[in-house]
Amino acid sequence: MNREECNGVFVYIEQKNGNIQNVSLELLGKAQELAGNLNQEVTAVVVGSDVAGVDKLAHYGADNIIYTNNDDLKLYMTEPYTKVLAKVIEDKKPEIFLFGATAIGRDLAPRLAGRIHTGLTADCTSLEINEENKDLMMTRPAFGGNIMATIVCPDHRPQMATVRPGVMKKAVPDMDKVVEIEDFAVEIKAEDKTYEILEVVNEVSEKMDIQEAKILVSGGRGVGTAENFEKLARLADELGGIVSSSRATVDSGVMPKEVQVGQTGKTVRPDLYVACGISGAIQHLAGMEESEFIVAINKDETAPIFDVADLGIVGDVNKVLPALVEELKMA
Ligand code: FAD
Repeated sequence: MNREECNGVFVYIEQKNGNIQNVSLELLGKAQELAGNLNQEVTAVVVGSDVAGVDKLAHYGADNIIYTNNDDLKLYMTEPYTKVLAKVIEDKKPEIFLFGATAIGRDLAPRLAGRIHTGLTADCTSLEINEENKDLMMTRPAFGGNIMATIVCPDHRPQMATVRPGVMKKAVPDMDKVVEIEDFAVEIKAEDKTYEILEVVNEVSEKMDIQEAKILVSGGRGVGTAENFEKLARLADELGGIVSSSRATVDSGVMPKEVQVGQTGKTVRPDLYVACGISGAIQHLAGMEESEFIVAINKDETAPIFDVADLGIVGDVNKVLPALVEELKMA
């Protein structure tokens, strides 16, 4: 597709069991900024069946909402969803199309990019408009996170990217904004489904995802052992939060990979992030520095974590943590 004929920043609105996922609202926030730069509009594209809260997408930045509501699309399947989105692109000719770098986005976006013969930058952590030529500059970690690569797609449209959950900020909701929902009907034929879903088994996990938590108490090499992490867990309990970690303690086998914060872990943006025995390496900061309030506990007063902390405690975590727990119990 020629760049001259394309217009608009489109966001694929991911839904699971009919519920819109947070990452899509984050992308709408970013899309609003990009569209403002291009003097264009934001379009939210919803595919599914009886998805809740489609009209509310306007509050988070959508100027247009396109909705394919079809019983055959209740559950995500690569081919039928690709067919719908390829039709949306053919009809509407977007300039930019954004997806969450989730399990679904990582499957759908490359399939779609292949179908419509455009490029895709996967797993982006930053998106900006080039002020000179108005191309989208898509930045992502490359070579195992050792460099940040900025990629452009100069000749093909739409410019497509998947973006890590938790990296972009939701727009401040505008509750008065109302837009019309366009019913975008696409017929799904039997041959569009290359497989059949017999059963959906939901993963049962009692643990909350660190990206959903409002309060994180995070431990690093300075905390060290699994026994010491118990102290962290007690502080997290008192504060109503959960435990996360730096890569050092994941690499040493003390903590599981799913709680790693940072460039090669997860990006978090909690209301409170308590960094215990974490030095503040750039790769760790990349995953947490946008937290609302950061408390750092470290015995080395020159540790770089103090540069991003709102409150710093210079001391030994083994002494400070139990003291904090006691204080909170008495409060
Ligand atoms: P250290 O850097 O060893 O720091 C330990 C800190 O604890 C020190 O500041 C020390 O003063 C303090 N301390 C020690 N004992 C105590 C005590 N008793 N009380 C109080 N303080 C104490 N790292 C990540 O975290 N996440 C990532 O996603 C990530 N991705 C990476 C990707 C690449 C490509 C590379 C090259 C590195 C990556 N890293 C990542 C690793 C990163 O560079 C650091 O090595 C790592 O973050 C260090 O973890 P740490 O702060 O726990 O340990």
